[in-house]
Amino acid sequence: MNVLVINAGSSSLKYQLMNPETGDVTAKGLCERIYIDGRLTHKVGDKKVVKDIPMPTHSEAIAAVLEILQDPEHGVIKSVDEIDAVGHRVLHGGMKFSDSCIIDDACIKAIEECIPLGPLHNPANLMGIRACQAVMPTKPQVAVFDTAFHMTMPPKAYRYAIPTEYYENDDIRRYGFHGTSHKYIARRVASILGKKEFKLVNCHLGNGSSLSAVKDGKCMDTSMGLSPLAGVPMGTRSGDIDACVVQFICNKYGMSVDECLNMLNKKSGMLGISGVSSDFRDLEQGSADGNENCTLALEKFCYEVAKYVGSYAAALNGIDILTFTAGVGENGPDTRQMICDYLAFMGVKLDPEKNKIRGKEMMISAPDSKVQVWVVPTNEELMIAQDTAELVNG
Ligand code: AMP
Repeated sequence: MNVLVINAGSSSLKYQLMNPETGDVTAKGLCERIYIDGRLTHKVGDKKVVKDIPMPTHSEAIAAVLEILQDPEHGVIKSVDEIDAVGHRVLHGGMKFSDSCIIDDACIKAIEECIPLGPLHNPANLMGIRACQAVMPTKPQVAVFDTAFHMTMPPKAYRYAIPTEYYENDDIRRYGFHGTSHKYIARRVASILGKKEFKLVNCHLGNGSSLSAVKDGKCMDTSMGLSPLAGVPMGTRSGDIDACVVQFICNKYGMSVDECLNMLNKKSGMLGISGVSSDFRDLEQGSADGNENCTLALEKFCYEVAKYVGSYAAALNGIDILTFTAGVGENGPDTRQMICDYLAFMGVKLDPEKNKIRGKEMMISAPDSKVQVWVVPTNEELMIAQDTAELVNG
């Protein structure tokens, strides 16, 4: 089976053609500068081709993807018939979606109703869906939501301690994101441990970072909130912050709330503290070169991640396994070590040799560690393809 996985942004569209059973990626690529001019980067194995193609809307972008997938020189399929289904990443499913869903008129209406919760991403995701419907009207399509995995959280985890009317009237609550990644890791952990009962804290640490507390495969708590701004500090996001900081800055600098939130989303986090970069490789280099702001950014990050792990260990009444995933989680031994050093009190102990691993699934804890610690590379596209296949095959 071939599933075309689509992640549509406002001016970009990522795609992968993959086999959901084996995880093999036949081709993948990126359309950029949609609505501006249009550029397609297409990869098959090690071969890469870049083409400037006019993309006045997402429809032309999808059409360009289908064309290159069938191209005699760069293509991997003979006809669109070889694509069995399309899986779309959708950011916000609000309270309407606790699982992935086959796209029909009702599903599209519900995604539209979630636009106030995901005002930047949901409209772009819908453009990708509509473009696929226009270009491939008969192909089954599935929406996979970044929030869905977290819908099993109990009210004490998802409710904010503000007046109930905002929850009842406006759906204001913790939703959480990176759900597709957390779900993928939870499934991998079930398979690694060979059992369905386990207590897991998963650290998805990348440019965006979030943690989730998972019991027996179900999410019990997660660090992001109504939006992806909450939780640990990230590449450019502040993470959790006292709301009065917003009031203070807006009043003092005459900023609007939107301007202030833009600063908290795009200029804060690792970039804000270091003043150098949002990229952990740059921060590690800066720190090695003696830049104290880079060192502080890394320390702040590890400290906050460790605090979340500790609080989730309390929430789950202990944990069996701690996992690291995404760019930093998979490739940052120093970051993992610094986080785990804080967790020695609960018996977490890394094997320094094994912890050198980058980008591969492996247990990195010492034999006498009370908690297993693993690096598990995430694969959100595969999770989307698998959910799509499950729903389409019934
Ligand atoms: P992601 O958002 O999951 O793609 O992760 C991006 C982050 O992963 C960036 O901050 C990168 O610096 C970090 N990253 C990727 N490779 C490495 C590496 N080899 N060592 C340290 N950090 C890395």
